[in-house]
Amino acid sequence: MRRTLRRPHRRRARVAAWALAGALTIPVGGTVGQAFRTAAPDPPGLFVEGPDRVAAGEPFELRLSADRPVTFELSLAGEERTLVDQAATVALSAPPGVHDATVVATDAAGAQATSVHAVEAVAVPEVRLEVPDRVPPGAPFVVTVVVDPSDAPLEGPTLREGDRTVPLHGPPGARWGLAGAPLQVEEARTELVADWRDGLGRPHEARVSVLRAALEREVQELNVPANVLAVATNEARAEQDRALDEARAAVVDPPRWTEPFLIPIEGRGSSGFGVPRRYAPGGRVSFHLGEDIAAETGTPIRATNVGVVRIAAYFGIAGYMTVLDHGAGVTSRYYHQSRIDVQVGQIVRRGDVIGAVGSTGLSTGPHLHWEMRIDEVPTDPLAWVGRVLP
Ligand SMILES: [Zn+2]
Repeated sequence: MRRTLRRPHRRRARVAAWALAGALTIPVGGTVGQAFRTAAPDPPGLFVEGPDRVAAGEPFELRLSADRPVTFELSLAGEERTLVDQAATVALSAPPGVHDATVVATDAAGAQATSVHAVEAVAVPEVRLEVPDRVPPGAPFVVTVVVDPSDAPLEGPTLREGDRTVPLHGPPGARWGLAGAPLQVEEARTELVADWRDGLGRPHEARVSVLRAALEREVQELNVPANVLAVATNEARAEQDRALDEARAAVVDPPRWTEPFLIPIEGRGSSGFGVPRRYAPGGRVSFHLGEDIAAETGTPIRATNVGVVRIAAYFGIAGYMTVLDHGAGVTSRYYHQSRIDVQVGQIVRRGDVIGAVGSTGLSTGPHLHWEMRIDEVPTDPLAWVGRVLP
């Protein structure tokens, strides 16, 4: 081992660090002159290993090693470390951006080697879901997916309400989707889950739950005559469901509406949304999935909002039925019409006449059965009136 004195170095700050670390043996006597006469010392072999991309603000490790004991001086994004060793693992973190991790290794002879390792620190956003605390039975509600910061790279999010994927709309930092609170007799919680991947491809999940209020209504006895009930065959139901499924598949992504929804006819409410009903004595109880508004046959029915006509046809149960697609998974359905004034594919404006009140299909008197659905989820039509969601 050569016993030489470190030659004077312009980075004087280092001398103090070495002295404190006790790593330097300072020789005494006449060796100083000899030291200055030696050839330039060969630099230490320096090896730096670490990830190229890391999560901003989260710790990651750099492994440093040299072929002899050295003083490592490490700097990254304003943070500085000094270690005396031959090998070391250093935990670091960095703010978002691309940074150089600079490592200078200096051996006892003052020979130096430098390594620069570029590290990209990727911002990992916080994703949270905002929902109302509690929703009435069947009420539509908005789920906002807040991403902070909004410009952080991420894949997704996708939002789920049970088995249903909720389509999202709006700007990247505040995407929103519509959810319905399914009808149930007891108070219950609905969980919403957002899945997303950060800029490093790591999966994350955000969850929130909404309290759905209980439906407190008495069972309504409809006493529908047998000859009217006879139209509700399995075949008729299947045919109608098939058409509605096809119409739903055609629903376009962005919301078309910019104005509040309106009530399609003036009339008298005859059976509200969500009412548990029995069609005939002793029959099974089912929830009413629309709002019934009684009015004279021939009363014009108006489009609740701007939309594309997806269905305009006769069905055994719904009678003459129109379905409008408002975008964002939202459709309105109009049953039991005496006539239909629109055609499939036609765009109707808010308030346009689309048909007239009747009593076709499974109906005992002239009325409009009006439904508002988010995908397949029935929602309270009156909860849309006068509102612009989100
Ligand atoms: Zn009805």
